Amino acid sequence: MIIVDAHCDTALSTYEKNMDLFENDFHLDIKRLLETGPRVQFFAAFAHPMAYRNDTLSRVLGILDQVYCAQELYSDRFAVCMSSDAIDDALKMGKVAAMLSIEGGECLNGDLSVLRQLYRLGVRSMLLSWNYRNQLADGAGEPNGNGLSGFGRQVVEQMNRLGMIVDVSHLCDAGFKDVLEISTMPVIASHSNSRAVCDSIRNLTDSQLIDIKKNGGVVGLNFYTHFLNNTDRATIDDVVRHVEHICSLTGEDHIGIGADYDGIEHTPEGLEGTECIPALFERLAQLNYTDTLIEKIAGLNFMRVIKQVIA
Ligand SMILES: [Zn+2]
Repeated sequence: MIIVDAHCDTALSTYEKNMDLFENDFHLDIKRLLETGPRVQFFAAFAHPMAYRNDTLSRVLGILDQVYCAQELYSDRFAVCMSSDAIDDALKMGKVAAMLSIEGGECLNGDLSVLRQLYRLGVRSMLLSWNYRNQLADGAGEPNGNGLSGFGRQVVEQMNRLGMIVDVSHLCDAGFKDVLEISTMPVIASHSNSRAVCDSIRNLTDSQLIDIKKNGGVVGLNFYTHFLNNTDRATIDDVVRHVEHICSLTGEDHIGIGADYDGIEHTPEGLEGTECIPALFERLAQLNYTDTLIEKIAGLNFMRVIKQVIA
């Protein structure tokens, strides 16, 4: 069973602490991905917009470099993939298939040519904003956030044209609405849950979940306890509550995993690291979820969007 995890911040952690992506004490490393494969893992490059106000781009490039350095060192077991064929080939050879994403469009510096260069560098997915306002859109942390700017609209159009997945996690509600109106391709909310189950601005309302279904996109379940139940502690069953609610609204085809490992301070009991993800599927099987639905949640839904958008 292929497991696709659409979001982790591990490359940022290894970049900051000068640690190895292959084996480390973080929530995720290549060794554990290999042991619980086949795996497709998105690696996000995030530069905090306040801390790195003047130069988010250098930092984003440094984090992406972490993933490429790992590929050079472990080329027999780890491959940066830029197409669904490349993913298929990597998995066939028993490698972890890595996808590059960027968390926040600050690094574009308002310039579409930077977006195109990042695409050429292998980036196949981007979150338009993080929690704050940037040149593209307002993030979820902006009170009464506005929708997309003119530049933000151009970025979405260009991403559709290039074959980059537009990621709406972290956007404010107005920005989400604008993206869903203009995107001609399926979008993802790589690491967001249901707001009806857990009231957080980072989670999606029922009408947003239905919009994702209409768009053909996928929502990735986030394992952060505060996005599961608004406390420091959670269990696998708290994740299951989000699965049940999202499936009840959208059916089987619009839900996946975006665990947010190494971007979260508290993980649920039994889901402490990426090697634990299969435990969620075991729990779903105990609850009589069909093998077909479990395989879709584990990875096939995200694989569908990857095939459609990046080809
Ligand atoms: Zn995030």
